[in-house]
Amino acid sequence: MADPAKRAGQLKELLRKYSHEYHVQDNPSVEDSVYDGLMAELKILEQAHPELITPDSPTQRVGEKPAAGFKSVRHMERMLSLDDVFSDDEVHAWLKRITKLDSKVEKADFWADIKMDGLACAVYYQDGLLEVAVTRGDGTTGEDVTHNVRTIQSVPLKLHGKHFSKGRVGIRGEIIMHRSELERINKEREAEGLAPYANPRNLAAGTIRQLDPKLTAKRKLYFRAFDIFGEVEDFKTHHDIYDSLTSAGFQVNKQAKQYNSIQKVLDFAHGWESERNSLPFNTDGLVIKINDRKLYRQLGVVGKNPRGAVAYKYPAEQATTVVKDIVISIGRTGAATPIATFEPVQIAGTTVQHASLHNSDEIARIDVRIGDTVVVYKAGDIIPKVEKVLLELRPKNTKKFNMEATLKKQYPELNFERPKGEVVYRIKGATRQLLLKKNLEHYASKSALDIDGLGEKNVAALVDAGYVKDIADIYSLTKDKVIKLERFAYLSAENLVSAINDKKNPSLPRFIYGLGIRHVGVQTAIDLSNHFRELTKLVNATIDELNNIDGIGEVVAESIVAWFADEDNIQILNKLSNLGVEPKAQNNSKGKLFGKSFVVTGTLESMGRDEAADKIRSLGGTFQLSVGKETTYLVAGANVGASKLEKAKKLGTKVVEEIEFLKLID
Ligand code: NAD
Repeated sequence: MADPAKRAGQLKELLRKYSHEYHVQDNPSVEDSVYDGLMAELKILEQAHPELITPDSPTQRVGEKPAAGFKSVRHMERMLSLDDVFSDDEVHAWLKRITKLDSKVEKADFWADIKMDGLACAVYYQDGLLEVAVTRGDGTTGEDVTHNVRTIQSVPLKLHGKHFSKGRVGIRGEIIMHRSELERINKEREAEGLAPYANPRNLAAGTIRQLDPKLTAKRKLYFRAFDIFGEVEDFKTHHDIYDSLTSAGFQVNKQAKQYNSIQKVLDFAHGWESERNSLPFNTDGLVIKINDRKLYRQLGVVGKNPRGAVAYKYPAEQATTVVKDIVISIGRTGAATPIATFEPVQIAGTTVQHASLHNSDEIARIDVRIGDTVVVYKAGDIIPKVEKVLLELRPKNTKKFNMEATLKKQYPELNFERPKGEVVYRIKGATRQLLLKKNLEHYASKSALDIDGLGEKNVAALVDAGYVKDIADIYSLTKDKVIKLERFAYLSAENLVSAINDKKNPSLPRFIYGLGIRHVGVQTAIDLSNHFRELTKLVNATIDELNNIDGIGEVVAESIVAWFADEDNIQILNKLSNLGVEPKAQNNSKGKLFGKSFVVTGTLESMGRDEAADKIRSLGGTFQLSVGKETTYLVAGANVGASKLEKAKKLGTKVVEEIEFLKLID
């Protein structure tokens, strides 16, 4: 990992640049989720290293200073932002945090509203009459946009009711544009040969910050209010505020609701996630507030965010992550595909940890290197792709990826060529047929699925006849089909088909071995099976996780990740599963150590490390090489290394001495 201070410095600088593009120029160069992802990374860094929190850090500052050309106006009360949460777990963690500060939170109600993707504005009224409208700006000072806000019909020029007839009152809300309005404007622009605007949020921001109100009046904007402050009664709840806003003549979101449990709020959030396109405007999540105003205020503010509220953001289709490695997978046709492995990241609700980089030309085009921070997206379907590299975050001394050198390192015994006019490297002289035959022979071999009658000659006959185009096809063979081949008679055809179907539930180690993943021999397949117990867990394993299994080194881990990152292979696994091929999970779940993982350090008096590992595995436990989050016990023998003990302490792993360990395995 890069030096935290350096990384934080780079992140701050880039976030400032993005913030300027977004808030001042109304022309962002990256999606909001990219900004949010980097901001989340900076927050985590600052939490771990509080000395990195500087007053000018983007985590501490709202928006941007007012732009030149506008009169700046000081806000009556600082306008804040909201802390982001990206999952139900993070919502629960927020609640836990604030309950610790004030136990009244435990019984509190919530106020939940759709989070509008527009720009925040405060409209000030003096004795009920509109005085000045100010953008949020940097929270303290904003831009005077009164001339334009006056053209928005949903902003009353005079407040209704005697409630607001005296004193100075501020109303906060979001200025938004409907998607249909963006389309209308873009159609006009298209007719004039002009480039379309990218999204309603930026057009709304650009429109409200026009110097000529006539232009603003031509575009339909809305103001949806969500807060009142200033010289006004103390409202008991946010619910009351919305009621007052409505009676004063403002529009509020009709969907906003009070809930008495966080689960109901989360159900509301999930409901809107799938329904959000039915709203006329864009939303990127939900705003959740503690409904009770007094409690909300008492919880206070941290940095630029009130503690009593959060923005629950919907999963985005783009995210940022760091490339940990680039490994090469050899596909069924002998083609070599480079694959980037990442720090795991959530995209559109699933964990993504690798993406195909297609070929060396594509790598050169996007210039992706190990250590780079990249934008990854999921394009409509399920396959993640690397969109671009954030060059501003590139660490020093990264090396360009070298396809040939990596092929040599990963596959020293194979020769590759790049046929003329092609972008892909392939195994020299290998044909698809030849590779398929080899794979199938291996799959059916004694140590793998052990299918009688599926040796070299029969495999060749089946492949040459075109009956089998991939491993999974053997399960679709019928006696009538096989009998047509010269080598078969009635009985031998019947025997082969039933031998194949008899092996539809191989043991997990045999199945893993049978897949023919490079460097995964019989013993490694057993180790993998013991560790993961289910195929799906192995499919999603990370390089780090694999590396941490006893007996599995970096090269093997890379080879495994590359194999499962190859779409072709996943398709075959799916096909096998659809044909009813289900490897039996290594069923040690009845073992007394099931679900527990162990690291042994130092010297044990009663047994060697291998023996300890075997014992743990035979009782259903997992044996690991180094202490990680998921380690249950660190077994400390004689001459223990201090670093392992320290790590265990940090992670809260239980440390046991040999005597206790012997009791556990007894
Ligand atoms: P935010 O938009 O995440 O949340 C706070 C804001 O939500 C409030 O100020 C308020 O204006 C608004 N809001 C909308 N509906 C609301 C409701 N019903 N109740 C209360 N508040 C409501 O945080 P932010 O500080 O305004 O700015 C960050 C946003 O700007 C993020 O979405 C970020 O992705 C985006 N951004 C993007 C870029 C980029 O380059 N793409 C750069 C900077 C910021």
